[in-house]
Amino acid sequence: MRTVRTTFALFVLIALISGCATTGPGGERSLILIDTPTEIQMGLESDRGIRAEYPVLQDEALASYVREIGAAVAAYSSRTDVEYTFTVLDSDVVNAFAAPGGFVYITTGLLALAGDEAEVACVLSHEVGHVIGRHSVRSMQSAMGMQVAAELVLGEDNAAWGQVAGLGAGLFMMKNSRDHEFQADQFGVKHAVMAGYDPDGMIRFFEKLVEMHGSGPGGVAGWLSTHPDTNERIDRARLEIETYDMNGHPRNRHTDRYLSRTTSLRG
Ligand SMILES: [Zn+2]
Repeated sequence: MRTVRTTFALFVLIALISGCATTGPGGERSLILIDTPTEIQMGLESDRGIRAEYPVLQDEALASYVREIGAAVAAYSSRTDVEYTFTVLDSDVVNAFAAPGGFVYITTGLLALAGDEAEVACVLSHEVGHVIGRHSVRSMQSAMGMQVAAELVLGEDNAAWGQVAGLGAGLFMMKNSRDHEFQADQFGVKHAVMAGYDPDGMIRFFEKLVEMHGSGPGGVAGWLSTHPDTNERIDRARLEIETYDMNGHPRNRHTDRYLSRTTSLRG
């Protein structure tokens, strides 16, 4: 049994080690107890679980094309202490998500729905935004409680890691909060613009989601299983895009290239 005082000392210690990290698009900072090495270890655990549960796309040419799009937007990420990996899962479910530590996943169902490279760039950029915002770690910290999070970092308690394993797939599928979604959308627009992509790709993709499922946060995984209404995300993304001076700025969509390289998905 740990006393209140040692628990408190533990928090102070962890706060000193981990401290704050810049997590918001406007430079906002948050208290992060789960440090990057621990986050990456969690990401590796999740990645193993995801690969055991979902088939990874075997089409290497298409997979590497998607990795290139991801790398183009991730190149502008302000978070450089993780490596970004982009994995295509062979599933008809329209979904994309980020596990802790820079692991990003996108389904063939989503790639088939997207109409150009800019739409995919915006989706991947949104997921990179979750990584920058350390959203999975922050959700975990609140779900597990700060003490368990602290014990993970100190590695002194195997029960804490047991709890992580217990959360299993729920860890990375964890519903992001409303604020986290809006933040990720902001990062998504920002990095798409920086990479020379048409930021309206985000709007176009949202509109396809609305067309498919309606605008409410219905019973769909990932991208749609969010608190914010998709129409509200469209409105806010439009306002965000207006804050950028797009005069003379490229708005690449690479539609032909996209459609030819993803033909196999629309068989
Ligand atoms: Zn999201």
